[in-house]
Amino acid sequence: MRARYVFRLDDITPTMDWGRFWGLMALFRRSKVRPLLGIVPDNLDQALVRQRPRRDFWQTLRQLRDEGLVDVAQHGYQHTLSFRPGLQLIGRAFGIKEFSEFAGDSYSSQLCRIDEGYKILDSHGLATPYFMAPNHSFDVNTLRALAACGFRAITDGVSLFPVCMHGIICVPQQLWRPRVLPFGSITICLHTNDMGPRAVAQVREFLRRPLRFSSFAAEVSGASSSLATKVGNASFMLAYAGARGLRGLLRDPRPGPAGAGHPENSQLSCL
Ligand SMILES: [Zn+2]
Repeated sequence: MRARYVFRLDDITPTMDWGRFWGLMALFRRSKVRPLLGIVPDNLDQALVRQRPRRDFWQTLRQLRDEGLVDVAQHGYQHTLSFRPGLQLIGRAFGIKEFSEFAGDSYSSQLCRIDEGYKILDSHGLATPYFMAPNHSFDVNTLRALAACGFRAITDGVSLFPVCMHGIICVPQQLWRPRVLPFGSITICLHTNDMGPRAVAQVREFLRRPLRFSSFAAEVSGASSSLATKVGNASFMLAYAGARGLRGLLRDPRPGPAGAGHPENSQLSCL
């Protein structure tokens, strides 16, 4: 029951900081750890432009995947974030400001853009059943659209173990830097574009520790709806609610973290 750790690398684009990306990949490769790469199908976010685009972007990613060194996820569509105050965002649970590419839009609009993104990845031989929402932000329509497009799992939500919502397995993501936790399916989110030497050193030291490292694909295929999983998730949510201020959460009727107090989140039919 020891914690299993998954790494995800966000904002993978042709214009990312390739030096930092390869630096991280070398660490994972050396430790035989397979991270999940969040690929933006058609990036329009200037904040993610760190250098001139590499022409062999798609080929490089295909090679990494085919060699079994990474799993890949579709990271939204164009990574264009709009301020959406007062909407049902998973990101709110993390205290993230309410910027989203999808949450709040109609089902048909989300379906169309998610499908466009899927087609782009598919045209490059990188179609994937895994999704990673920009800014950790999505709503029920996003999940319904993902299910309609044939997606199986998303990397996000605040729980201890994967939960299922609207036919999509949500593998939780709890950390933004390596940290040892006693148990659970723990995903650590890294943004290679913004990682300095100290952050990279933290990852290096963490990977040297005798911990159980997993992969996103393994967590999806091992997802379960056992009683132990439910008890673990409920306990984690109670602790999380306490840490963030139970009063504030109870006062707020909007669903926050995946699996937290939302009646629709109790569905486990896809596990
Ligand atoms: Zn992103």
